[in-house]
Amino acid sequence: MTATASPQTDARDLFAELTGATPAGFWSAPGRVNLIGEHTDYNDGFVFPFAIDGRTVVALGTRGDGRIRVVSTFDPVPIEVALADLDTLFPDRRDEIVEWARYPLGVAWALQDAARAAGVDPAPLTGVDIALASDVPVGAGLSSSAAIEGATASALNDLWGLGLTRVALARAGRRAENEAVGAPTGIMDQMASMLGRPDAGIFLDCRSLDADVVDLGFADAGLEVLVVDTRVSHAHATGGYGERRAACERGAEIMGVSALRDLVPADLDRARELMDDVTFRRVRHVVTEDQRVLDAVRLLRAEGPRAIGALLDASHASMRDDFEISTAELDLAVETARAAGAVGARMTGGGFGGSSIALIDSTLVDDAAARIVAAFAEAGFCEPHVFTVHPSEGARRDG
Ligand code: ADP
Ligand code: MG
Repeated sequence: MTATASPQTDARDLFAELTGATPAGFWSAPGRVNLIGEHTDYNDGFVFPFAIDGRTVVALGTRGDGRIRVVSTFDPVPIEVALADLDTLFPDRRDEIVEWARYPLGVAWALQDAARAAGVDPAPLTGVDIALASDVPVGAGLSSSAAIEGATASALNDLWGLGLTRVALARAGRRAENEAVGAPTGIMDQMASMLGRPDAGIFLDCRSLDADVVDLGFADAGLEVLVVDTRVSHAHATGGYGERRAACERGAEIMGVSALRDLVPADLDRARELMDDVTFRRVRHVVTEDQRVLDAVRLLRAEGPRAIGALLDASHASMRDDFEISTAELDLAVETARAAGAVGARMTGGGFGGSSIALIDSTLVDDAAARIVAAFAEAGFCEPHVFTVHPSEGARRDG
């Protein structure tokens, strides 16, 4: 990913503007690309994301008055509340907080609760000033939300000496997103952002939260992941995402299972008999997508990255035709990448806009990018952002 500025420098500058001081430390966490396994996370299923080389940085300093203040290059109006008031703000009075600030403040709230559960009294927790900067594109389906949650959770975990595991921090991030922000997302994004490793993906069982780090071998195979941010925005908190979740819950109920994860492709004939066509197609996407994740991990290990191309293509077709969450822009990006020689391509993220990915030989990247930009212009679409991402390290302290 080509960063135009360093988010660490931006966070440092913003912190200095806010406080007149130098931060006590920097923490960062990455966005993620989901290689395969879409809308399977909240169905207790399998996902296979990797952390990307775009990161959100937290610059943090302590303060003695038990208050938390957050500011971001995204919106430089600082928001400040007493740590003791977080419990009354979330979730019921969250509307009183501007949306972006619910992410870091929601993480602080969730961590206080996790601390309590771990036997730590949150009352004496130190007040903090937090300045945020990021080079993860926002709203592009690359999970800038998990990046801001992961960076904030890591920083506060260290500062407050909570000793929570990476998985516990991922859970706190998810809780912030679900209850403090009000976006009904699964835990994939937070797990990828917390657990990412260079040139590896995170094969995650969203029921047990068992996570395997699986070598991707993209670099050795001369492959790149090309992202096309269609710049058509999506909104998780509203509309289609919630409707898809409801359809999945309905399908599981009809089939008498606690989650669609409990079905296998052989169950689909019976599902077709029992439910309406739309619910059936939603179910079929999730059940076949779980299988594609398992197949992708197996093929990757056995044969290497070029073997997963057809699964990426099939995943896209399933999201376009069965789950109906693609857009004309995403379909064009995927088809053009494939025509330009990609090994495989699919939309990634929640859908209804956002980004597509293509696994492609590094020698073909420039030509594919040019073809995609030209195809979008010809179709009269907004000019896309086209860039490569590299599987990278998860949340960490940077200094
Ligand atoms: P995505 O995760 O795909 O980028 P989301 O809608 O889940 O999209 O999350 C985007 C939201 O997260 C933004 O609208 C904003 O509220 C918040 N956010 C993300 N990054 C930052 C940041 N650096 N500073 C402030 N808010 C941020
Ligand atoms: Mg998000």
